[in-house]
Amino acid sequence: MENKVKAKKKFGQHFLKDRSIAQKVASLIPDSHQGKVLEIGPGTGMLTQYLLPNWGSKLYACEIDRESVAHLMKLFQHDDFTLRIWEGDFLQHADQMLHSDDWFVIGNFPYNISSQILFTILKHRHRVSGFGGMFQKEVAQRICSGPHQKAYGILSVLTDAFYDVKYAFTVSEGVFHPPPKVKTGVIYGVRKATFPDCDHDLLFEVVKTAFNQRRKTLSNSLKKFNDLFTSPQTEVFSKLRAENLSTKDFIVLTQRIEELRHGAK
Ligand code: SAH
Repeated sequence: MENKVKAKKKFGQHFLKDRSIAQKVASLIPDSHQGKVLEIGPGTGMLTQYLLPNWGSKLYACEIDRESVAHLMKLFQHDDFTLRIWEGDFLQHADQMLHSDDWFVIGNFPYNISSQILFTILKHRHRVSGFGGMFQKEVAQRICSGPHQKAYGILSVLTDAFYDVKYAFTVSEGVFHPPPKVKTGVIYGVRKATFPDCDHDLLFEVVKTAFNQRRKTLSNSLKKFNDLFTSPQTEVFSKLRAENLSTKDFIVLTQRIEELRHGAK
């Protein structure tokens, strides 16, 4: 199947060759999922073929490569069934695709945009109850790491604020055609039952601001939020760095900024 479409570098195409891995990735979606499934970048359909038996008409795909789309249409079009494919850039069309319903987003993601894919999922968290798939290993580790770890950063905190994530397994270069230069990490996330009790846009801003100057102490990196460290709850953070704070700590900081903005001292 993988030889039918010529792999294109500009679309980050590394087609999966290994059927058992495709099956394992497909099984990341819990059977209990009630909503729809969106596969990003189905390519030659290696993963799609294992998603179809379970999800059938609930399965949608988004693929940017016209040649892959033509191939998929041929492969998955029968008398009574046609795979629904959005042709185009997921990042551009996500607002339309994910504007309603409940989604599980899955894929062997194009690595050149994997962080942006996750940010897009986070933006649509109210409609994405879970996600799973293959990321560049380094990005997968970043998403799954915790405080004090080297890979801990914006993606780790913001994902952890809304999803319980797990690193499932590592995949080597050889199972792709052509082999990528990096290893692959398979992860999945299940949305938390409750979201942080704070202004989410502000939480994003605080986390990004703190990590953009990750070497500085928070009293420096978060200077623009005046009086932030004057409460008993937040004082302890002022001499720490972003990497020392848990997601909960960032939420406490965000709540404090809200308090200050609403005039409480
Ligand atoms: N799932 C396939 C292909 C993975 S390669 C397999 O496992 O074999 C990544 C796929 O994402 C390619 O098919 C590529 O064309 C597609 N892609 C790349 N950028 C995209 C984008 N912005 N939006 C949607 N699909 C994209």
